[in-house]
Amino acid sequence: MIENKGSVIMNTKRDVLVSKNNKAIHKNNQKCIKCGYCINACQSMDILNRCKNLEELKEVCINCGRCTLVCPVEAIREKYNYQKVLKILASKKKVKVVSIAPAVRVAFEEEFGGFSNENKEGILVGILKELGFDYVFDIASGADLVIVEEAKELQNRIKNNEHLPMFSSCCPAFIKYVEEFEPELIPNLSTCKSPIAMFGTIIKTYFKEKIKVRASDIINVVIAPCTAKKEEITRSELNIAGVFENELGIHDTDYVLTTRELAILVKKQHINLKKIKAKEFDNPILAGSKAGLLFGSSGGVSESLIRTLYYDLKHKNLSKDKLVIKELRGSSNIKEYQAESLNLKVCAVSGLSNAKKILEKVKKGECDSTFIEVMACPMGCINGGGQPKTTMLNKNKTLKLRMQGILNADLSSNNRLCHENPFIKELYANFLDSPGSSKAYKLLHRTYLDKNTRSENEKD
Ligand code: SF4
Ligand code: SF4
Repeated sequence: MIENKGSVIMNTKRDVLVSKNNKAIHKNNQKCIKCGYCINACQSMDILNRCKNLEELKEVCINCGRCTLVCPVEAIREKYNYQKVLKILASKKKVKVVSIAPAVRVAFEEEFGGFSNENKEGILVGILKELGFDYVFDIASGADLVIVEEAKELQNRIKNNEHLPMFSSCCPAFIKYVEEFEPELIPNLSTCKSPIAMFGTIIKTYFKEKIKVRASDIINVVIAPCTAKKEEITRSELNIAGVFENELGIHDTDYVLTTRELAILVKKQHINLKKIKAKEFDNPILAGSKAGLLFGSSGGVSESLIRTLYYDLKHKNLSKDKLVIKELRGSSNIKEYQAESLNLKVCAVSGLSNAKKILEKVKKGECDSTFIEVMACPMGCINGGGQPKTTMLNKNKTLKLRMQGILNADLSSNNRLCHENPFIKELYANFLDSPGSSKAYKLLHRTYLDKNTRSENEKD
């Protein structure tokens, strides 16, 4: 039984309902002990509040996976894809490509009892090679590409004074939230695909040319902190490589595995982490910039964007001492920064209940920010629905360590600007033409669907 009393749904049944067709979340009702933790998690994301009843939640679930983090008996978990990936790894037929999203490398070790504030990407590359992948790449390069395109898009919107403020578009849970509940704000969403979606398209167009295979010969896997990415990669408006390459029916990204699923794979394959040697990302993409890596933590998209916007508008890079914007760092859920030199204000918000407050301001015309970064998960992807579970006791400490791991990697690097990534420069010089070119728009930008236009078969 569920009742909507004003804006708050009172739960008396004490568990969320998940559709069998949900592409990201799986629920086993037989295991459920009706503890109510999943209801509270969903409530905290402002989703249940907006449903008339639990049946409606089955349709509008944004796949964020907050419920999977709190279920004490694994009755709710991500929809597993690791078994399919294991089968593919055992076959010799396909070229197996895998890429690592930013937040995975600061949390993965927790699944094996480790806690540290270090970026362990080298070890992860070693593990993925040991598992049998042919190429291991860095999704931070996809984030670099997003920033270069997004900076161009924002400049155009400012010049034409249209659809401002512009919202970031890299969080699929936020995108579905806007499509479902705030469709009038769809024009404010950046049209840039997410880093994973852009990267998938590049793998099956540009990279497949480099290694002289067909796009359909490649299986492209991503390790992500996120459950919502499992749904994102199925969306037809993001799968463009097959159209471009005239190989209809393929997906730009074939599988997303969560950080937890990667740990399952490692355990199933009896990989001894102590014997793994750190390795570098593969050619021709190599490691992304550490600005791209900042995407893993709330505020990071805004900070990276300012670095590249400054370069685009002033034709020189920000000096090293101005790269860190402390107002955009830390665990606060709403962070604002006035960039005087660029004459614009940015806002970074994480957690959908917090985002709702900002969206209300935008709708009333009371928001003075030009760019708004929204991450559905509190503190951003470091706290994603596919990350290792924490206890109530160590949650804050763990999230702080993950965030430090990302910020320290940026501080200690000389590679801190998305537009300076040599791979990105080569990509524009030899494939995409220039940021915002018609080819870049065709491959790297997207459209949106509101709930009235989404086809039945794309609904959960
Ligand atoms: S995935 Fe997110 S929106 Fe869906 S039921 Fe779980 S908490 Fe609610
Ligand atoms: S904040 Fe990150 S992990 Fe959470 S839903 Fe969005 S993209 Fe996924």
